[in-house]
Amino acid sequence: MNFATKAVHAGVEPDPSTGAIMTPIFQTSTYVQAAPGDHKGYEYSRTHNPTRTALQKALAALENGRHGLCFATGMASIDAVVKLLKPGDEVVSTNDLYGGTYRIFTKIFEPFGIRFKFVDMEDPANVAAAITDKTRLVWVETPTNPTLRIVDIAAIAKLTKGKNILLAVDNTFASPALQNPMDLGADIVMHSVTKFLGGHSDVVMGALVVNDDALAERLAFIQNSCGATPGPQDCFLVLRGLKTLHLRMERHCANGQAVAEFLAQHPKVGKVYWPGLPGHPNHAVAKRQMRGFGGMMSFTIKGDNMEDALHFLRTCKLFSLAESLGGVESLMGHPASMTHASIPREERQRTGVTDSLIRLSVGVEDAADLLADLQAALG
Ligand SMILES: *Cc1c(COP(=O)(O)O)cnc(C)c1O
Repeated sequence: MNFATKAVHAGVEPDPSTGAIMTPIFQTSTYVQAAPGDHKGYEYSRTHNPTRTALQKALAALENGRHGLCFATGMASIDAVVKLLKPGDEVVSTNDLYGGTYRIFTKIFEPFGIRFKFVDMEDPANVAAAITDKTRLVWVETPTNPTLRIVDIAAIAKLTKGKNILLAVDNTFASPALQNPMDLGADIVMHSVTKFLGGHSDVVMGALVVNDDALAERLAFIQNSCGATPGPQDCFLVLRGLKTLHLRMERHCANGQAVAEFLAQHPKVGKVYWPGLPGHPNHAVAKRQMRGFGGMMSFTIKGDNMEDALHFLRTCKLFSLAESLGGVESLMGHPASMTHASIPREERQRTGVTDSLIRLSVGVEDAADLLADLQAALG
């Protein structure tokens, strides 16, 4: 099945008791048993819920994996992956990481004796150099936030294969419509479902997709034991969102291209970070491993001062100032004062998060209206 067909149909079957074409919201905590242990595959909703099962199957299909697991948030899904490890194990991770991931690694799991190394993964040689006989997990995020750098997943997979090292990829920014890390050699694909998969800024959720049966079983054990599972109402909303994922992503990509090209030629704009621009340092890798470049981008204002950035954020009307991304509506953020404010200025500047850097999540509105909004704000 091709992607668009999977987005509409995967995981979903008409409800056997009524024929309802949409998966019902099974708002139940428990299931009646005819005799102890004699049940229909469902005992308690932390462990299994039919609405969640449908969503897990759909997500697995979209990532070309065999098993999907949903969690209450993206962070809860990352938490489950690290819980596969034990004290003394090492993790090699990108240095340009989602802030919440950096926080759970260093503030929650480091005190439990797991070691994290953060390297620049644009050059896979840095990953090779960081791997030791204690390394059990390599954590990749691509494209990265907020400077949209690209990591070559297949090149990293060559370093982990056959070595008792799991390769996990946070695929949130690309979505399975644009990138399938499993096909490039990843063992685990992670999503903040909150973003493009949900797509309508109305749900917080996370997911993992894996191929290996034993790995799926270990993760399901953690999912059930630790208990950060999503409710059926949220699963229903994401099932609904998935049906238009391919259509939304097409428009995110087209609008993304229009906005990136507009910004790149604007006299008041400094740098533009969008992997679809031929001048992007990792454009060739992005072209190889992605089917489109998406609607996420960042740019700076010439002169690079905070005042200009704040003026721009105040003046924009269609782009709303908010955390998060991947919804149908266009959003903008100012990493230096929002998501990355806790990082010292010098360190921030070094990774490209300068004072005027503005991140855009370009939505699915009319492109001409979006460009007019940006033009007015830059004027
Ligand atoms: C939002 C996000 C997360 C965390 O997901 P939540 O659903 O907010 O818990 C992880 N990684 C990336 C890249 C994200 O954008």
